[in-house]
Amino acid sequence: MPELPEVECVRRTLEPAVIDRRVSRVLVSKPKLARPTPAALAEGLRGHVITATSRHGKLLILHLDGGGYWAIHLGMTGQVITAPQRPKADHIHITVSFSDKGPKLYYRDVRQFGFMAHCQDRAALEAGPLANFGPDALGLGLDDFLRGLGRRTAPLKSLLLDQRILAGVGNIYADEALHRAGLSPTARPADLAPEKLANLHAAIQETLAEALAKGGSSVRNFVDARGRAGTFQHAHRVYQRTGHACPRCGGTIQRTVLGGRSTHFCPDCQLEK
Ligand SMILES: [Zn+2]
Repeated sequence: MPELPEVECVRRTLEPAVIDRRVSRVLVSKPKLARPTPAALAEGLRGHVITATSRHGKLLILHLDGGGYWAIHLGMTGQVITAPQRPKADHIHITVSFSDKGPKLYYRDVRQFGFMAHCQDRAALEAGPLANFGPDALGLGLDDFLRGLGRRTAPLKSLLLDQRILAGVGNIYADEALHRAGLSPTARPADLAPEKLANLHAAIQETLAEALAKGGSSVRNFVDARGRAGTFQHAHRVYQRTGHACPRCGGTIQRTVLGGRSTHFCPDCQLEK
């Protein structure tokens, strides 16, 4: 699923295509993807100009004149595409037209775990789509990171996936960052010296920054708003590399299931403490 770097790549490529444009029409063919309802989404967006874009965790946020917000979550397979003509693809469930009659915004979602929402104001955004998000992972300071983890006894991998602690990191970047930091997915903050957690903090920031620079990871069908795939998947060290050699120590990458999520790691150089 698209994680922080992928959603940020969508934001950066979408912004120039939608900024200062006025929404004229919203067509929804899969009601469950529109919040609170298809009619309310269409009514909330229509007539409003997009004044800015931002992102928090995996949530893409378009700011509207008048103080409203248009939130987009890509779920597992969501794609936001701007194009003059409807793309020759199935699973396009929402189409947004603009008053300038220029390129439209198409929302495509094969698995349909994503959504689009209209929020009247900041309070509605924070009480709704942002309700369970902690601080954004990108650029999060070391002190705030350490405060979020505390002296918890849950496995690091599970804590990194908890969006209330660190918004934006998912399965790919949790596995990659733990490998870079040389820490086991099952290591527990309560057992770790502060410098180990500082290494993990640095590894997360490095991994996210490198992924961003490479246009994200295209492991399923991820593309940015211009339809371009990322290349960071070729730089993955452990994620979905079960049976391959560890790039650091030559050990064999293994896969396990932790908290219901597949987890990739090197048992030889990722330590419990
Ligand atoms: Zn290794």
